[in-house]
Amino acid sequence: MSGGLVTVPARRGTAARARAGQRITVVNTHGTQVVDAWAFSADDVTEWMAMEASRAWFMKLAAAVGDSFVTNRRRPILTLIEDTSGCAHDTLMAPCDPQRYGLLGVAGYHDNCRDNLHAALAELGITIPATPPSLNLFMNIPWTPDGRLAWGEPVSAAGSYAAFRAEMDLIVAFSACPQDILPINGRTGTTTEAHYTVD
Ligand SMILES: [Zn+2]
Repeated sequence: MSGGLVTVPARRGTAARARAGQRITVVNTHGTQVVDAWAFSADDVTEWMAMEASRAWFMKLAAAVGDSFVTNRRRPILTLIEDTSGCAHDTLMAPCDPQRYGLLGVAGYHDNCRDNLHAALAELGITIPATPPSLNLFMNIPWTPDGRLAWGEPVSAAGSYAAFRAEMDLIVAFSACPQDILPINGRTGTTTEAHYTVD
C-alpha cells in the first residue's frame, strides 16, 4: 500500500504493513478523536513497540519530534518526524478493554481498543499472545509536578496529524478509541473516524 488515505472507522480498528523508511501519517480528521496505535516487527510479531522501554529511551512522558519509540527488544521501530497536533500523545494509559468499561459502570458489551486491535490484526492473519501497551495518539493526559494525572480533552485541531518514520519492516494497528464516558474524545462523548497514510 502506498499513498492512499485510509479510514479508521469510528469505534473500530485497522492494521497495515509498512516497510522500513516509509512515512506513516495519522490524521486527527475531526480534531477530537484519540487513536490508539501499536507497531509490531514484521519478522516477529512478539517484538512490539513498548511504551515503558520507549520512555526509558527518550526520557520523557510524551515523545517530541525526533524521538524514537523502541520495542520490547529496545530497537527503534517508529520515529516521530513531524507533528501539527501539539504532541499530546499519551504513553501512560492502557488501551481500553471490556473490563475498563465495566469499572466505568457500563452494563453489557462496549466497543473497546483491545478488541479492535486483535480484530484488525486478524484481518491480516496475525494473532498475538497479549495486548501490548498502546501509544495513545491525540490523547491528552496532563500531569502535575507531584505526579497526578487527569483525563484531559484533546488539544489537537481538526486535520492535524502526527507523522512517523518506520525504522523496520512492521505492522501498524490503529483503533479509533470508542471511549464515550470520559472526556478524552471531547466533552460531547462523540466518537469519530480518523485517517492515515503509508507513503
Ligand atoms: Zn480506547
